[in-house]
Amino acid sequence: MLGRDIVALHRPVEGTARVRVVVIGGIHGNEPVSPPIVRALVDVPMPTDIEVWLVPEMNPDGVEAGTRANANGVDLNRNFGWGWAAYDGGPAPFSEPESTAVADLIIRSEPHVAVWVHQPLDYISSIGSTPDSFEEAWAAGAGLPVRRDVTQHGGGESWTNFTGGYNSMLIEANGWDATPEMVAAHRNGFAALIALFG
Ligand SMILES: [Zn+2]
Repeated sequence: MLGRDIVALHRPVEGTARVRVVVIGGIHGNEPVSPPIVRALVDVPMPTDIEVWLVPEMNPDGVEAGTRANANGVDLNRNFGWGWAAYDGGPAPFSEPESTAVADLIIRSEPHVAVWVHQPLDYISSIGSTPDSFEEAWAAGAGLPVRRDVTQHGGGESWTNFTGGYNSMLIEANGWDATPEMVAAHRNGFAALIALFG
């Protein structure tokens, strides 16, 4: 909104990708653990035909300011089109450039799974029709509990599955500081998810 770029780290493949994965962090700028967790996934070993996009800071202005909302004062995880509500979702669904940009990335990449990283509620959830094996793999790898059937009106993770039809996961990291142990735990969770794709 203030002109800061939303950066996506892209792990390309030669030819056609067999599996495509998108991971988004920094959705709420006052959640400092998710950008380092997402950045740390960049060198997780995986087969060469898996294509990955990592967005450590969906809300760069909020991260800079330390605010939950973006520079317009809109909570980006209420601004997506699924279940959007006027009382907390901003002026309209997808009114914000950050939600539009990330939705475009998901639509264009057609991911086998999109992963949305928040804090600090301490659970892993597969959204909607997303296989339970996804949440179970990440939860086991990271040492966090599973929470079934989470929904969030206006939420990116909910829009991804319920509107987009793509598998979607919500990661709620446990705590407020991105300790090396926490980052390593979520690397393990991500690796366990990737292992499901063979
Ligand atoms: Zn959040």
